[in-house]
Amino acid sequence: MLELRNLTKTYSGLHVASSVSFVARPGEVTGYLGPNGSGKSTTMKMITGLIQPSSGQIFFEGKSTNDDPMAYRQLLGYVPEEPYLYTHLSGIEYLVMVAQLRGMSRAIATERIHGLLRLFELYSDRHVAMSSYSKGMRQKILLSAALMHNPSLILLDEPFSGLDIGSSLILRSLIEELARRGKVVLFSSHELETVERICEHIIILHRGKVVADDSIANLRTLMHLPSLEDIFAQLAIERDYIAVSRQIVDLIHA
Ligand code: ADP
Ligand code: MG
Repeated sequence: MLELRNLTKTYSGLHVASSVSFVARPGEVTGYLGPNGSGKSTTMKMITGLIQPSSGQIFFEGKSTNDDPMAYRQLLGYVPEEPYLYTHLSGIEYLVMVAQLRGMSRAIATERIHGLLRLFELYSDRHVAMSSYSKGMRQKILLSAALMHNPSLILLDEPFSGLDIGSSLILRSLIEELARRGKVVLFSSHELETVERICEHIIILHRGKVVADDSIANLRTLMHLPSLEDIFAQLAIERDYIAVSRQIVDLIHA
């Protein structure tokens, strides 16, 4: 179980994440939703340890993640929203580098890397520099890198962005399968349809604050709203998007 307790991050006095508390359980997919700038990526980076919270604590499997950061990192798989990929490397070179950094044994790493490249249909491009990969191909490499050491906690920051339909379908069932195998899966997305289909539990963030933390079924009943999109619009979208879209079209017609 992953537990965040009053996690706060301030930049120049501004609260980007404000006392964020929630629990993500093994065996279920937790969706982390919120409009752009609401603090999703910041929270994810705090969970990975890439940035330090201003205050608050993170627990995984009952232990503070600060107790033994090295051990915690071995349990973690993370797909960042804006990855820094060494694009001059080929897909296979990158994965081998990640495996070495993780201290994986050569035999296991080789077997898993080759298997992942085949399953993600990247095998024939494995020696090509990633600079010529499509967004979807890069995403599959990042997923492979995040999963190859069989982590218990999987953080996916907007993993569907830029994926074609085929890759999205694979990723969706992959997320479900990982949860079924008892992993804690937290993924942020604005793909409401996807979230609605695969998440047992959703957390909605608005301006750095948790405004909803419940099952989708409960949220629907509570708010008398039929779809997640309606719930999301009510809780987290302040702009009148119909008016805004009219203004955009008016503007280009003027
Ligand atoms: P989301 O992932 O939900 O779109 P982010 O966590 O990326 O949101 O960002 C939340 C807010 O924090 C944004 O307003 C963003 O501009 C701000 N922010 C993020 N990182 C920094 C930083 N390093 N310094 C200052 N402000 C930041
Ligand atoms: Mg983000």
